[in-house]
Amino acid sequence: METSPRAWGKMEPGYIQLHNRGLLQERAREAKEILRSCQMCPRLCKVDRTAGQKGFCRTGERAVVSSYNPHFGEEAPLVGNGGSGTIFFTHCNLLCIFCQNYEISHQGLGDEVSPQVLARMMVQLQNWGCHNINFVTPSHVVSQILEALPLAVELGLKVPLVYNTGGYDRVETLRLLEGVVDIYMPDIKFLDSSVAERFCRAPDYPDVVKSAVREMHRQVGDLVLDSRGDSDKGAPSETPGHAPWPVTEQRSHGIPGRGNFQEHLRERDGAVEALRGSSLTSGPLPEDIHPGIRASP
Ligand code: SF4
Repeated sequence: METSPRAWGKMEPGYIQLHNRGLLQERAREAKEILRSCQMCPRLCKVDRTAGQKGFCRTGERAVVSSYNPHFGEEAPLVGNGGSGTIFFTHCNLLCIFCQNYEISHQGLGDEVSPQVLARMMVQLQNWGCHNINFVTPSHVVSQILEALPLAVELGLKVPLVYNTGGYDRVETLRLLEGVVDIYMPDIKFLDSSVAERFCRAPDYPDVVKSAVREMHRQVGDLVLDSRGDSDKGAPSETPGHAPWPVTEQRSHGIPGRGNFQEHLRERDGAVEALRGSSLTSGPLPEDIHPGIRASP
């Protein structure tokens, strides 16, 4: 039985090459600058996170992590024998009111971590035998990930990186991740602006996610599977497992990549249907739950 991650020694992730050329640190510096008037994501809050100000995502200069562990419930190509090394970031730039991780995304369950601690988490996951580092809900902490990554490389990190996102990502920010991220895992939650407005106060979500997935696909191409169905590289798109925007329509919306049915999205969509069909459709909005947050401009 294989005990070590398949990827080790087989493929050198791009971030190691960038690090060796000094470019990873450059990306980290560039990203840190963005935090000074934060436009990391399409909310464009323009708060100075380096001075402790917080915007819609309620995250300051340091990332907050709720948990990190080998995860065997991820998409099959990521799991292999050792699991996917998930790091669950606290808070979110989307704040869907039906979120299945409500305590983490809305209520802030987790601890602030320094770049050094975040780097050690990555290496620990690798040492536990995980096949990859899987950043869950990373859109608001791209800078913090980039800052920790050179430290992790120095500590021996060498497994592929997964960007597991709700899809509300700016193309400008994704470009900082070119050659860094090996696998993109975007959710495509809504293709209806009014639904996105209702549940996330993000009416631009459909346009944003389409542009984001195109950029992800430009960077890494289709998901590449080996003969055993495992993957080191690519961009599957998580599309919900039932129609309003079935996988077969993915390409008609101009969304590239390989669609992927997900059980947990079916559950989540059940929640959406429940919300649509109940009095909750006139229930709380994100800003009702968190006074002070604001909608996208
Ligand atoms: S929600 Fe987006 S733009 Fe606003 S502070 Fe967070 S990452 Fe920055």
